[in-house]
Amino acid sequence: MNLSIANKERLNSFWSYCLQHQHFNIGYPESADFDYSSLYRFFNFSLNNCGDWRELSNYALNSFEFEEDVMHYFSNLFKIPFQDSWGYVTNGGTEGNMFGCYLARELFPNSTLYYSKETHYSVTKIAKLLRMKSCIVDSLDNGEINTDDLILKIISNKDKQPIIFANVGTTMSGAVDNISDIQLRLRQMNIKRHNYYLHADAALSGMILPFVDTPQPFTFADGIDSISVSGHKMIGSPIPCGIVVARCENVDRISVDVDYISARDQTISGSRNAHSVLMMWCAIHSYSHSEWQQRIQTCLKMAQYAVDKLQRAGISAWRNPNSITVVFPRPSEEVWRRYHLAVSGSLAHLITMPHHKTTQKIDELIEAVIIDQKELLELSTY
Ligand SMILES: *Cc1c(COP(=O)(O)O)cnc(C)c1O
Repeated sequence: MNLSIANKERLNSFWSYCLQHQHFNIGYPESADFDYSSLYRFFNFSLNNCGDWRELSNYALNSFEFEEDVMHYFSNLFKIPFQDSWGYVTNGGTEGNMFGCYLARELFPNSTLYYSKETHYSVTKIAKLLRMKSCIVDSLDNGEINTDDLILKIISNKDKQPIIFANVGTTMSGAVDNISDIQLRLRQMNIKRHNYYLHADAALSGMILPFVDTPQPFTFADGIDSISVSGHKMIGSPIPCGIVVARCENVDRISVDVDYISARDQTISGSRNAHSVLMMWCAIHSYSHSEWQQRIQTCLKMAQYAVDKLQRAGISAWRNPNSITVVFPRPSEEVWRRYHLAVSGSLAHLITMPHHKTTQKIDELIEAVIIDQKELLELSTY
């Protein structure tokens, strides 16, 4: 690149800023301990995974063979035979959610999309783009969907083929919607298995639950029809990306033949990122199953450490089962801004990602929250 000195300096100062903030994030679920330097040389090529990796594309510089491996890995993880599944590496969790909703809408064009209040904000966008009727369902205090309310709303809409957007780890509190209860209740209403669609938004927890001893039901074996995970969250990636897996039979309904690249294309984008495919491939091959288990265990222990420490200081912190998201009362703006915390209503959270190898950053934040709480209490007693 032929940059002026001023522009080079600008990049240098952004570089310093990034270095300084590299491991800072404690309010967002982004892993920061990845190393993809062995892939840097591929940035010399204009790679592109346009279309379906199952097809022979005319565009030579693709990483389809790696994408196939990645999808093999995730079909295993989410308990669906590889040949019965289809999916791809997306631009992020949102695209995967959109893909799931798109499949569902093609199956049941006039049905309503049900999701809880605690659902990620992107679902509203998706429903709008796909012009789907939608219905917001109440949630319980821990962030799970209120199944009673879900069923009531399906009944009052006289919906024969509901589309349910289930949270497998909500953004704010890591709550997992009770998928077996939802299915039981649908069965009791005489809505047969082929007459509803169940999408799982597993942006963060999709890469946690497969590695814990007692996961909540969330896989294809538990009746899920599609599942979306973010690649830049638990796995970690310098570029946002994700993975979506669906049932092959549903995907084949939406195939479009594209003459000029001589490939079928079921994906949402046209040109697709082939570099992030290589990153996901490297990530899944960098750790064995038991190493992933260890990574996740460490995060879970760290989360429990934070809950205990906050509770000992009289702060009502909590977390959901199998979640690394620690919820506590929203501190003053000065604190949540300083620590870049995500806040929502009266709550804030911290997330114990794998790059928190020591308790240092977590301790720092907790101390600040404790002092802040004391000050708030003192203020309120005057
Ligand atoms: C982060 C998140 C998303 C969005 O994922 P992106 O990868 O940012 O598009 C969707 N759902 C939940 C529950 C999330 O936490």
